[in-house]
Amino acid sequence: MKKIVFASSNPGKIEEIRSILGKSYQVLGLKDINFNEEIIENGSTFEENAQIKADRIFEYTGLPCFADDSGLEVNCLNNAPSIYSARFAGEPSDSKKNNVLLLEKMKGEIDRSAQFVCVICLKTKDNTLFFKGIVEGEIAESMSGKEGFGYDPLFIPRSYTQTFADLGKEVKNKISHRKVALNKLQTAIDTIL
Ligand code: IMP
Repeated sequence: MKKIVFASSNPGKIEEIRSILGKSYQVLGLKDINFNEEIIENGSTFEENAQIKADRIFEYTGLPCFADDSGLEVNCLNNAPSIYSARFAGEPSDSKKNNVLLLEKMKGEIDRSAQFVCVICLKTKDNTLFFKGIVEGEIAESMSGKEGFGYDPLFIPRSYTQTFADLGKEVKNKISHRKVALNKLQTAIDTIL
């Protein structure tokens, strides 16, 4: 089976990606390739941050690899928190604090439209390619739901009435920004690798 490295040490994400690509590829995480360095994501876009990770891991292994960067863009906040989604309320990253701050900043806002964005950078010997996934929706007036992570308790995807945290993994993983980007990645690697 062909090997591909996913530049992440987040077990939840690796699992999610294996469940999508795992039939055709052996997906290795950073632990599997003994990579322990911290990669500083100091780019100014999702694309730059994803490429920083993919470049470093490709340099380390020489195997085809991909990295993702994702976040939430809120229209009435000029697309914030965007690439700062994880540390919106400061460091260390705290999802509860991020959600509370987002609600505070959006108090009284009529336009609650927002989108989750995921950019995947694929790096091979001959290619550097980008795949983008977006899921549109709205920011709820209060947190709801127990599943998921990050801003899931506040994000209601378009055509639904509940948050990602209420809807759960099964629904989320069918329509999420990451799933849309991964589908595009899969089409590309099926031809390139
Ligand atoms: P990263 O791409 O794992 O660095 O994600 C950055 C941050 O964006 C996360 O810490 C979350 O705050 C937010 N985020 C990205 N994707 C999701 C999602 O699917 N649900 C909720 N929050 C997300």
